[in-house]
Amino acid sequence: MAVHVSSHPLVAHKLALLRDKATAPKQFRELVRELSWLLGYEAMADLETRQITVETPLEEMPAAELEPRVGLIPVLRAGLGMVDAMLELMPTAQVWHIGLYRDERTLKPVEYYNKLPDAATVQVCLILDPMLATGGSSSATVDILKAWGAARIKQVSLIAAPEGIATLSAAHPEVEIHVAAVDRELNERGYIVPGLGDAGDRQFGTFAGPSSEPGHASDETAEVVRRLQRNLSANR
Ligand code: URA
Repeated sequence: MAVHVSSHPLVAHKLALLRDKATAPKQFRELVRELSWLLGYEAMADLETRQITVETPLEEMPAAELEPRVGLIPVLRAGLGMVDAMLELMPTAQVWHIGLYRDERTLKPVEYYNKLPDAATVQVCLILDPMLATGGSSSATVDILKAWGAARIKQVSLIAAPEGIATLSAAHPEVEIHVAAVDRELNERGYIVPGLGDAGDRQFGTFAGPSSEPGHASDETAEVVRRLQRNLSANR
């Protein structure tokens, strides 16, 4: 299992602001973008380069260009806020959206958007999803990308729960996970605690939906979380 937790002080500083419940959507979106930039920079540190030649105004010299074609795979909708920063880093990356929502009762991912062409058009895929919670959406996205033919897949998230890391790593041990922090646990509703709440609602200002309302977990949801927690302790 390869989990990279950023130790960059700027990441820690920005993450504290992001978590703060007083942070309004405008600043929240800016922070998601800035953190994505920093995590993307770290996640791409081992991409291969090929040698090229450039001509400076003074002379020719050997230089490098990125070898693999890279695909950004934002998981709708919360992953959208991570795309622009990644495109600033890699303007030639392709963006392939995957729409998955989490069934509020079973916490299982339900696919509703996928326009991937028949064969993979990139070698490296970066899955963009701010919260790696149960790991269900991530594992489902990796399944989709593997079936597509992606050679190498990385997950970039802002915050992960130990349960989500365990689920994703058990299903796909070769997927590298890059995060700003690993939090304590999932609560009985499948939210990461301490976390930051609902990353989609906080980016897009949609606080009226049932997912952001405080409330009790259904028995079914709480049982799913207990099962994930049992799996986690069995594998520790
Ligand atoms: N999705 C979120 O937006 N937040 C969580 O804590 C878990 C899943």
